[in-house]
Amino acid sequence: MKKARSIVNDIVKEIEERVSSPHSDEALLKEFQDKQKEIEDAVLQDFSGGVPRKHVARIRQILGNEFIDILDQGKIGPLVWKGKERLERIYQRLASLLALYLHYEKEARAKTLEVERLNKIKDELIESQVSHIHEVEMLETQLQGYKMLMKIALEPFEDAMKKIMSFLDAKQIEVFLFDDDRFLATELKTDGETFTYNQQEEKPEIPEIVSEVKLQEKKETTLDVPLVVEGKQIGHFRLERQASGDFDKVKWKRDVEWITSVLARVIESNRNLILARKVYIDDLTQMYNKRKLNEQMGKLFKQFKRGDKELYIAMIDIDKFKLLNDTYGHPVGDEILKQTAVIFKEELPFAYRYGGEEFAGVFYGFDKERTLEIMERLRKRIEKTVYSIKGQEYRITISAGISKFETHMSSVMDAIDRADQALYASKEDGRNRCTYYNDVKDRLSSDAAKLRQEILQLKEQMSRVTRENKRLAGQTNKKTGED
Ligand code: GH3
Ligand code: MG
Ligand code: MG
Repeated sequence: MKKARSIVNDIVKEIEERVSSPHSDEALLKEFQDKQKEIEDAVLQDFSGGVPRKHVARIRQILGNEFIDILDQGKIGPLVWKGKERLERIYQRLASLLALYLHYEKEARAKTLEVERLNKIKDELIESQVSHIHEVEMLETQLQGYKMLMKIALEPFEDAMKKIMSFLDAKQIEVFLFDDDRFLATELKTDGETFTYNQQEEKPEIPEIVSEVKLQEKKETTLDVPLVVEGKQIGHFRLERQASGDFDKVKWKRDVEWITSVLARVIESNRNLILARKVYIDDLTQMYNKRKLNEQMGKLFKQFKRGDKELYIAMIDIDKFKLLNDTYGHPVGDEILKQTAVIFKEELPFAYRYGGEEFAGVFYGFDKERTLEIMERLRKRIEKTVYSIKGQEYRITISAGISKFETHMSSVMDAIDRADQALYASKEDGRNRCTYYNDVKDRLSSDAAKLRQEILQLKEQMSRVTRENKRLAGQTNKKTGED
């Protein structure tokens, strides 16, 4: 697209050219000669029957009486009949020159007017365009921005949000969306690095609806902007920017306002994803939850059965966590869970919070060696990590059980059960360790056999006691009956 300023520049240049040289010199000379001949011919024609009155009048009018008198003197005296012819030629020449003069005077006046008119147009044009140029240039920059943003809008949601944030130099964006019942809930909060979906506990009250752009300046500069898609408000977002002296607030506000429609679209088109995150993401740790694990495992299990990749699952449990809670309080426990979650996410290919202080790791396409290696590295990292909370330092350990999926298994739970049993073995063996199910299954099954045996014995004891009780009760009744 041609830039607005250059279009106007072209127009101005054309006007200037037209004002300074309307024709080429050669064409002008030819035009001049033709005109001169035409005028002279016309005058000659006029003089064919003597000196015409109209020319005498014109000479008198332009040159004054005095000139005519000088010429008229030729009529008087001896020169009259001798000089008549010469006199007529002088009149004729004079008449031609005057006709030419009149013609060019008229032309010059017209040309001056034309130049004045064009100059005026030029000035007006320049004046009116200066403000438009500014506007058009602004629109052009915006258009560039829009093009960039439309591209961004096609990117995965979190990438798109990150780009929009860096474009706006935003410190934090908080997105509020209407539920189906028009209740507003915080659905997303991000600093451009981490994304927090629907963290309810921080804001128990229902947020206020924002229906117009509001700029607030406290410690930070925040802007509340309604999100509108196709005329319908879907919620609003709050943009936060660290207050600093040298940024153009007006420009920032304008940038935000026009970027908003793109942001609204990005959010609207990812609405389901955002709401799904809410269902699948655990509030406290921002990890995927058990629901997500179940769904993922369902798909992965089918894929595993069809393909030739190995699949492992690890069940992880924090050691003596109840004691830690009881000793230091639940909030400390919560903070440790949050920080541990970050490590789990970093170390495990797929990580989930299974519930409470229990987590699950999934390994698809890894062999046994690699899986155990990753788990061992995770265990050691947790063991070494010092959690610093409000000046106090804490440490924890984890126990894990790992099992391999087998193609003959009928459900995901078969493998999870085995991992759980291996985890139980880890606890039994003194905690802070990883146990692979196959390594302990014999022991576990003998443990289980022992347990079964014990249960059978207990059952037998119970029924014996019951029978004994009944017998005793019968005897007592008999006795009282006898009494
Ligand atoms: P071990 O696993 O080593 O046998 O001992 P434990 O004390 O960790 O085992 P148990 O399963 O008996 O206790 C788990 C505790 O985890 C119970 C509860 O206090 C704590 N817990 C579960 N969920 C949360 C949570 O969201 N926040 C906090 N702070 N504690 C939690
Ligand atoms: Mg537990
Ligand atoms: Mg535990």
